[in-house]
This record gives sequence, C-alpha cells and structure tokens, in this order.
Amino acid sequence: MTAAPEAGARAAGRGLQGTPLSATLSLMMSQCCRKIKDTVQKLASDHKDIHSSVSRVGKAIDRNFDSEICGIVSDAVWDAREQQQQILQMAIVEHLYQQGMLSVAEELCQESTLNVDLDFKQPFLELNRILEALHEQDLGPALEWAVSHRQRLLELNSSLEFKLHRLHFIRLLAGGPEKQLEALSYARHFQPFARLHQREIQVMMGSLVYLRLGLEKSPYCHLLDNSHWAEICETFTRDACSLLGLSVESPLSVSFASGCVALPVLMNIKAVVDQRQCTGVWSHKDELPIEIELGMKCWYHSVFACPILRQQTSDSNPPIKLICGHVISRDALNKLINGGKLKCPYCPMEQNPADGKRIIF
Ligand SMILES: [Zn+2]
Repeated sequence: MTAAPEAGARAAGRGLQGTPLSATLSLMMSQCCRKIKDTVQKLASDHKDIHSSVSRVGKAIDRNFDSEICGIVSDAVWDAREQQQQILQMAIVEHLYQQGMLSVAEELCQESTLNVDLDFKQPFLELNRILEALHEQDLGPALEWAVSHRQRLLELNSSLEFKLHRLHFIRLLAGGPEKQLEALSYARHFQPFARLHQREIQVMMGSLVYLRLGLEKSPYCHLLDNSHWAEICETFTRDACSLLGLSVESPLSVSFASGCVALPVLMNIKAVVDQRQCTGVWSHKDELPIEIELGMKCWYHSVFACPILRQQTSDSNPPIKLICGHVISRDALNKLINGGKLKCPYCPMEQNPADGKRIIF
C-alpha cells in the first residue's frame, strides 16, 4: 500500500529537480516546514512529560517491590511441582465457585485439565442459585432450602427460617390493606418460632394496626428497611456454609490476606537472619520462625505447643494425653521412653507409653 505513493513521490521529485519553486509554493513549503517543526517539538515535550511520569511510576514500583521475596519461601514448597500446582489450581477453582463465578471456574478446570467432581461443585451451585434469587428479592428458593434443612438449622441455633418468613410477611404488609388477609393467614408460619422470637412476632402483629395508614408513616417503618435484605443474604450464607461444612470466606482470599500481613514481618526476619549469618534457624517446612499476629478475624482453632520440645503439634506429631493428665507431643513421648516405660516429665508417674491418648482440639 505504502510502496506505490512513495515511488510516485520519488518520480515527481526527479521530474521537478532543478526547477525553481514559485514564490507561493516556497511560502507554502516554509509554512509547512514550520508547522511540522512545531508539531514535532510539541510531541517531544509531551513525550518528555509522559516519560517523566512513567519513570516515576517505575521507580515507585521498584521501591515497593521486593525481588528478594523468593528468599523467604523454602525451596521444598515447590517440590513435587505438579502436585503443588494442582493444589493451587484447586484452591483457585474453589474460590471462583465460592464467588459465584461459575463459568470462569469451569473454563479454568478445562484449561488446567483439573477434574472436579459434581459432589464438590453441587453445594456451591446450590448456594449461588439461592443467593442470586435473594439478591432479586425472591424468597422462594431460600425458604424451600430452609424448610428442607429445618432440623439441622435448629441444631445450629439458626434463625434463618424465621427471618425468611418474617421478610415474606413484611413484604405482604408493604402491599397495603388489600394484603391484610393474606398477611394474617401467612402469620401462622410463625407458630413454631413463637417461643424463640416472641418479641419480634409481637412487633409484626402490632404493625397490622397501621396497615390502613401506611406502614411507612407508622412507628413500624423500620420493618420496611432495605437492610433486611442484605442481612438475610448474610445470614443465609453463614448458616448454609456452616451446615454444608464450607467456610464462609474463601480459603484462598483468607490465605492471601494473611500472607499480605505476614510477608513484611517474614522479610524483616529474613534480613536479620542473613545479617547475623545464623542460617538454619528457620528450617521447618510447616512452621514459621516467629508468631505473627493476624488479628481476631483469623482465629479459627486452638493450637498446642509441646512443653517439652517447644514445637507446635501437627498431624504427624499430635498432642498425647498421658494417664496422669499431662499433655506432651508424640515426638517428646517417644524421646522419653526408657526401657519400654515412660516417666511423666511433670509428675514422675511411671506408665505404659501405649496408654497415652491422642487429643484433638
Ligand atoms: Zn504427669
């Protein structure tokens, strides 16, 4: 495309060579040259501005980006790479399912040839379907789910079903006097909850008095508050997750958030370890060199540190309760066995090591 006009221009140039330019043409040419010069100058100065901003961004990234971050990860973490990669992919897929990004999760499964069975997906699919309906203020699927899981929800002390019925009732109230009869007949759904939610049921019944006047102008206007919908989504997610044995927050986002808190601390430690040349201090694969405070939000379960070996117990080295009641780790117990007998390091009770019982927190 560009070759033809260029060739044409060259031919024209040869043809005009030696011919003096007319005054008008020369004026036009010089104007044109000036214009081009100005434009080029403007472009150059604009580029300078952009360039300085870009280089500032680059410097800011360099300042905040630590390339030495690999140093705090033990190489062993990447052993058996394929397996590790699958675990990571699985965590991402689970996160996507949990966030309701089903199509993205499916795509990732396909691309990574990850085999996710239906039993794993099913709870997420169901939760998302119900939550989507709730976001559109459709209580049907959530109520159906709550009724079919009533017994287990009661065991969890959940008031989900009551809250769903209450929301349905409030919606009827918002319909005005013509919905009065329907609301009254719906109120029988509260009967099983009369003992636990007496006060709330009284409030709802009291609101019926103001139905003709309009609920929004009554002391019960708070019943129409939109926050009830946000609250029901939260209650549903929390209770359904605990009933299905899922975590409310995705494990990946919790790990990521914890990592963001822990990383700067670990990098400081690494710097200190390197400076003092005391390598080998941090050798345990499953253990951090220091305790890192992640806040109450990240408290999930108790941990036990062996009083003898001063190590946190793990699945492979669990806490063992001796018959005298003292608790030590299995590694410590094995080290303390002498001639087939064990002497408790606290009360010197002698016992058979096989009598120790594993404790699960
Ligand atoms: Zn003892």
